[in-house]
Amino acid sequence: MDKAEAFMIAGETIAPGTVRDVAFPITTMATGTNSSLAVKVLHGARPGPAVFVSAAIHGDEIIGTAVIQRLARMLRPEALAGTVLLVPVANIFGFITHSRYLPDRRDLNRSFPGSAGGSLAGQLAHIFTNEVVRRCSLGIDIHSAAIHRYNLPQIRIAAGNRRLVELAMAFGAPVIIESPLRDGSLRGLASKHGVDMLLMEAGEALRFDRLSIETGVEGVCRVLAHLGMIESDDGLTTVGIPARANRTVWVRSPRGGVAQLVRESGAPVRKGELLGCVAGLFGEDEEAMVSPVDGIVIGHATLPVVHQGDALFHIAAIDHPERVGARIDSITEAILASEPQGSAQGMLDEDEVV
Ligand SMILES: [Zn+2]
Repeated sequence: MDKAEAFMIAGETIAPGTVRDVAFPITTMATGTNSSLAVKVLHGARPGPAVFVSAAIHGDEIIGTAVIQRLARMLRPEALAGTVLLVPVANIFGFITHSRYLPDRRDLNRSFPGSAGGSLAGQLAHIFTNEVVRRCSLGIDIHSAAIHRYNLPQIRIAAGNRRLVELAMAFGAPVIIESPLRDGSLRGLASKHGVDMLLMEAGEALRFDRLSIETGVEGVCRVLAHLGMIESDDGLTTVGIPARANRTVWVRSPRGGVAQLVRESGAPVRKGELLGCVAGLFGEDEEAMVSPVDGIVIGHATLPVVHQGDALFHIAAIDHPERVGARIDSITEAILASEPQGSAQGMLDEDEVV
């Protein structure tokens, strides 16, 4: 059996088949305290690709932090081929203030590649780029919806890349969205460095939900198994074929007031079908919202107090929504019904509280 070579990171030498927590100093805060980016490095006994899994690039999007905590307990470097870098909280500043942004009001996911002499966001982006992204051939970055919104677990990938479609299919989230890359985003940066990126969107900011966490844990494991980094016969759930879309639309509130939704994430909808209503404070002058397309609801607002123009539904345009919706239901049921996998190998704690 091939044996991996040592992995060098943060001035440390990590032997094959071992795990090490490393920290990259970022900057000095106003109080004089130092801040650093924490990374857990699981360096496999056998050679293989390097993959990072990151969360909370938007500091209040913490679903991925829960996913990474589970992965950190499950993955065993002695049984691993290749290297996994876990970054449970990329935007450590927004994380502690429950904010999407950094103290300098920047969005970390618009600040890549950053620079060593730049703003706080730029310095953090620079370290993440050089110490994490550039060491890997694949990254899985986990986001949630913004505050007071919920996203059906979904994978977003750059359009027109067959390799990414293959990896996204292996992940097995209910929906795959092919979307353009944004300037300054982690996905944009990764593509410039030839690093494959899957972006998972799931759940709500500042909250945990079981479907999102299970989808993330199982999805990352299925991708690692697909790459030959872990064994694939360790209890991973088999899920159906995800729905795919390359166009999404937002449905916004036609007036300010109080909204009542009759459809939510995961629901199939037909063009012209009722999604919900918004009325005034006395329930007067109710206005309906209908779907502009055939599709699947992939995100919805959870706060009924709305202003005119607030985005209340995000819909992926998909043909045959009922048939696809049934497939999505079967995927989510399989994910939720699955026993935490890998008990024989100690991969998951069965008494996990989510
Ligand atoms: Zn985000």
